[in-house]
Amino acid sequence: DMEVAIKVVVVGNGAVGKSSMIQRYCKGIFTKDYKKTIGVDFLERQIIVNGEEVRLMLWDTAGQEEFDAITKAYYRGAQACVLVFSTTDRESFQAINSWREKVEAEVGNIPTVLVQNKIDLLEETVIKNEEAEALAKRLKLRFYRASVKEDLNVTEVFKYLAEKYLQR
Ligand code: GDP
Ligand code: MG
Repeated sequence: DMEVAIKVVVVGNGAVGKSSMIQRYCKGIFTKDYKKTIGVDFLERQIIVNGEEVRLMLWDTAGQEEFDAITKAYYRGAQACVLVFSTTDRESFQAINSWREKVEAEVGNIPTVLVQNKIDLLEETVIKNEEAEALAKRLKLRFYRASVKEDLNVTEVFKYLAEKYLQR
């Protein structure tokens, strides 16, 4: 059998939980410590989708988000994308459009999913459900509300992306 390997880029403003999401999915851990980088280019996890073995390689940005300095090497060859914003950070929500455009400019229209993270902090929300759903609709993207902290919907996000990739 030919193994399927998918490079997944996880993008969004700083502090929305991208590194945490990658660690949660690939290592099964969550830490409160704000780590700017996980020290490697990517972490991986193997899953079975429709009886097929799929290796997901989740690429982390080493905290260069704020400097607009994410290198072409980061996006190069990306086959799927997670766009992340945070329940408690309005700017991160407003930045989704430009993140999408950046990814598209580098690698074109790849399977992409929109994620609202930190849904455990719903009482502190600064984003209305209708707005988030409207954005997903406008961008024609599957939308997940997730909590990396509570391990809510994280595996679903990546399963969806893998399925979407295999369907292409
Ligand atoms: P990144 O800059 O996008 O990589 O964000 P990080 O993964 O470094 O996370 C930033 C901060 O948000 C850290 O303190 C995390 O522990 C915290 N965090 C990440 N996900 C969640 C979540 O689902 N809920 C809550 N309450 N905090 C989270
Ligand atoms: Mg990070």
